[in-house]
Amino acid sequence: MASREELEKALQSYVGKEIGPEWVASDPVNQAMVRHFCAAVGDTNPVYLDENAAAASVHDGIVAPPTMMDAWTMPGMDAAWVHSEGEPQDKQVELHRLLSDHGYTGVVATNQEQEYERYLRPGDRITARIVFDSISEQKATPLGIGYFITTLYTFSDQNGEKVGSMSFRVLKYKPAQQAQAVAEDGGATAAAKPQRIRPPMGHDNSWWWDAINDGELRIQKCTSCGTLRHPPRPMCGECRSLEWDSIVASGKGTLHSHTVLHHPKFPGFDYPVICALVDLEEGTRLVSNVVDCNPEDLEIGMPLQASIEKVDDEMQLPLFRPVR
Ligand SMILES: [Zn+2]
Repeated sequence: MASREELEKALQSYVGKEIGPEWVASDPVNQAMVRHFCAAVGDTNPVYLDENAAAASVHDGIVAPPTMMDAWTMPGMDAAWVHSEGEPQDKQVELHRLLSDHGYTGVVATNQEQEYERYLRPGDRITARIVFDSISEQKATPLGIGYFITTLYTFSDQNGEKVGSMSFRVLKYKPAQQAQAVAEDGGATAAAKPQRIRPPMGHDNSWWWDAINDGELRIQKCTSCGTLRHPPRPMCGECRSLEWDSIVASGKGTLHSHTVLHHPKFPGFDYPVICALVDLEEGTRLVSNVVDCNPEDLEIGMPLQASIEKVDDEMQLPLFRPVR
């Protein structure tokens, strides 16, 4: 196995190169795929779906949703990605395999940006030319250390005219090995447990966190109509008043819904994490964690009690436990 320096030199040798032959759309732009796409994303714009309405519009006929641009040339699930054996089918597969061989086995898409030159119409034949745009230096992320790989797609029509472009970025990473090491080491590293990601705090909600730090779970209350609301926000949704104060919640609630998080393992959490929606007895709902409870013992509607606890050196949170 090459050193990190050798690996990074090899990675940079890909930048600027095409991943392989252009991707040619299997089918021309067509109404059937447009209809399925619109149904899938819930888009009812008649210029995509209704010939008469489209003909009367500025488009003078059916057009495809611009965000479908990369769908036309997408290879199916039999594409190289799912095959781990045999010769790499293009340089993208080759690059990913190189990183996998060095332990960077995880992959996650992180960014996508598109630019459009014109609307696509039924009958257009799209091809995509794909180039490695950049490969980052090694980065530390909550998923693990890894490299961001950005590819630039240029889409052209049957006349070779550019119709749009797309920047697509993935993170190829070594899955959460640091987090595993902490978990496996148990008590010895407990003191070095990393902090949880901080909640966003600003003008409209920092008072709520200040109350938590004072040991109080508070609920915002409209002083005009008395309606309680959470999360904190400047205006009453019932009467539009900007006047408010707050009450202290009892901490009694019931489990409205929950999910159990196993992966990816973010630093600072003890897995599995029970993420819960809790209906407070005062009537508002709160996102929180249920602790000291096996996930299989969770029941919708079960009574819960909050207590405000330190989760690390600096942060306190309201956490819920089942009422036995
Ligand atoms: Zn109100």
